Amino acid sequence: MTAEKKTYKFDYVINAADCWACAACEMECADNSVYVDDNANYAINSNSCVRCGKCFRACPVGAIARVKK
Ligand code: SF4
Ligand code: SF4
Repeated sequence: MTAEKKTYKFDYVINAADCWACAACEMECADNSVYVDDNANYAINSNSCVRCGKCFRACPVGAIARVKK
């Protein structure tokens, strides 16, 4: 067994311009991977996000995108 981190083919990314700051994504995320960044925008920590998609499905305005790496 190696201690290598799991790698993913995509990231979930919050588009700050579309985000209404409703906090639905933050409440859905069981891993606390949704946080508020230095610019007071909701953001997703791709290092801890397990790509479950709950935030993506919860967002009422489609501000979360799946971005291929
Ligand atoms: S995909 Fe899942 S783990 Fe990642 S930020 Fe969204 S709710 Fe959290
Ligand atoms: S659910 Fe969508 S609109 Fe609400 S805070 Fe998250 S990204 Fe922004």
